[in-house]
Amino acid sequence: MPGVIIDKGYCKGCELCVKACPQQILSMSKEITNRGYFSAQMHDPSRCIGCQICALVCPDAAITVVTHGQRYVLYDY
Ligand code: SF4
Ligand code: SF4
Repeated sequence: MPGVIIDKGYCKGCELCVKACPQQILSMSKEITNRGYFSAQMHDPSRCIGCQICALVCPDAAITVVTHGQRYVLYDY
């Protein structure tokens, strides 16, 4: 199963990843980071498909997607 690591030290709470996730499993935390932002969080890791869209749209490179060497396909053309 893929996993998402969000480095809250880099997150600036822009919500781009929340809006971009096709599975809608990212949301904003109610906790404030050391830099004064609400950070993104994962609320349903079991539904992550490892597409890496969240990592690609993050302007601060705060997200790492771990796929354990497997390739997960979002769209099968
Ligand atoms: S890897 Fe894809 S499915 Fe998983 S949290 Fe990121 S955008 Fe959502
Ligand atoms: S896109 Fe990056 S900076 Fe923006 S909320 Fe998501 S993790 Fe934070």
